Amino acid sequence: MLTNNNIKVTPIKALTDNYIWAIESNNYLVVVDPGEAKPVIEYIKKHNLNLAAILVTHHHYDHTGGIAEILAFKETKVWGPVNESIPNISNPVENNDIIEIPLLDLKFQVLAIPGHTIDHIAYYGSSNLFCGDTLFTAGMGRIFEGTAEQMYNSMQIIKSLPNTTNIYCGHEYTLANLKFAMLVEPHNLEIQKRYEEAKLLRKQNLPTVPAILSTELATNPFLRTDNNTVIESLVKNRKIIPQDKIAIFRELRAWKDTTG
Ligand code: ZN
Ligand code: FE
Repeated sequence: MLTNNNIKVTPIKALTDNYIWAIESNNYLVVVDPGEAKPVIEYIKKHNLNLAAILVTHHHYDHTGGIAEILAFKETKVWGPVNESIPNISNPVENNDIIEIPLLDLKFQVLAIPGHTIDHIAYYGSSNLFCGDTLFTAGMGRIFEGTAEQMYNSMQIIKSLPNTTNIYCGHEYTLANLKFAMLVEPHNLEIQKRYEEAKLLRKQNLPTVPAILSTELATNPFLRTDNNTVIESLVKNRKIIPQDKIAIFRELRAWKDTTG
């Protein structure tokens, strides 16, 4: 879906640990999941940008709470999932819709990735995936509305993207996620290496997001549920014998839930 190689993507910090993604090109700006208005409006003023669009992945307040106030500051188009009740969506979209934002020469494909919420979507374009709270760096969102099977299928959709895809998720959860990943795979050196790198970044208050999909495939347990080490660890630690792929996946999520 590549149309523009010259975009700049920057995290705008919001609430406790949310990232609002700022996509910029030619002085135009697209923001993804504005859970708060104030930091977005400050960013627009500071960098003298023209807001061209808002993209929303799902209805949760920490991803939508700033929309109304941003629109009061600057009227713009708002894309979001068709079947979630989100105020101020002007352009409802669903799976495989193509979004074009000519001001930035941007094109995104909408991917339905349900599980965290029932109509959660991602925006995929220019080698970037904006995936809200479905896949996290080194982890995965909670299954609030959908089923484990839906979330599993959403993981497979993300896995099928090119290995070089940049993963832009909605929260800074990498360190906690990697601690769980180390619990699942204590001998996976890639996870240990990533944990040390993430620790250094966080010490300097730098974001660990985005990550490259190939890194996720090597270290994110929720993308590794077909790996024997992960399955054996699950059997050993949870004292269960999962019957199929979905059961393995569901049990891994349940295990993560117990670690907080
Ligand atoms: Zn959420
Ligand atoms: Fe969230």
